[in-house]
Amino acid sequence: MSKTCVFCGKPATTKEHIIPRWLQKHFDLKDQHLGLWNNTEILYSQATIPACRVCNSEAFGLIEKKVREGTATKQDYFIWALKIRYCLSKKDTTLLLDRKNPENGPLLKDSLASIGSDFISEAFGNVGKKFFYRPNPFGSIFLFNNLVKNDGFGLVDIPHPYWALTIALPKNKILSVLFTDRGLVKKEIAYKFKKKGGFKSFARLNVDKDTKLFSQIITFKLLLAQYNLANIPYGFKIKENGIYSQKVPSKIRYREQLKTHVLQDMANICGLGDGFGQAVYDRLPPNRKG
Ligand SMILES: [Zn+2]
Repeated sequence: MSKTCVFCGKPATTKEHIIPRWLQKHFDLKDQHLGLWNNTEILYSQATIPACRVCNSEAFGLIEKKVREGTATKQDYFIWALKIRYCLSKKDTTLLLDRKNPENGPLLKDSLASIGSDFISEAFGNVGKKFFYRPNPFGSIFLFNNLVKNDGFGLVDIPHPYWALTIALPKNKILSVLFTDRGLVKKEIAYKFKKKGGFKSFARLNVDKDTKLFSQIITFKLLLAQYNLANIPYGFKIKENGIYSQKVPSKIRYREQLKTHVLQDMANICGLGDGFGQAVYDRLPPNRKG
């Protein structure tokens, strides 16, 4: 593994735990395995990446503390989750796709892990400084109640091109973040469920004992809601004092037709399998099948 800090590129002197140790301790994850998208797994305790002391403890320390204490702002959660998402991709570049056939290369190519790095390096380099996001928060951030209520753990990491992360937190909370939708999915769900019980109803799933499955299905539902929106502006400008999105439309436009392979792909990376996406497609009204 390279010995430079994955955040700032300076020499690394510490190992950053991708899933913070306080969270591993809370959910007793130390000897459990983190599932990777090629169906292999590594121990949570080995899921580390090189970082310098400044980035590891000073820069992110305050956000970490706020998440831990439940006092984080929505934008704090955005940055905290983005860091996990980014580190998981970086870790993937250091692992082999197939341990028996190293010539097949890494699990994730560096070029793919680096997509979005202009945004990320500015965002991480300005943690703790006066730095603006427009919109703020920059994506959709949800803190659902985990209706499974067994204090189990769930983690769903969704890479490019969808960009999402769902992770269980203490006190039966499930944090879900969509990083690139400019908050439009949250607005849309708030509007659709306004008279039907709000976000609580959106998160009501027929999953009674498995936090992992709950996390996977809720993530799929969010990706589907995101896919439904046709006019999310993905462009942004990096300025000295902040990151500014291309103008966010006040009126949402819907995608007319959904494609079966996209639904299958989204279900797959959520860990639910092709069939789950296909079943959702099959239930669409005929005019929405593309
Ligand atoms: Zn650093």
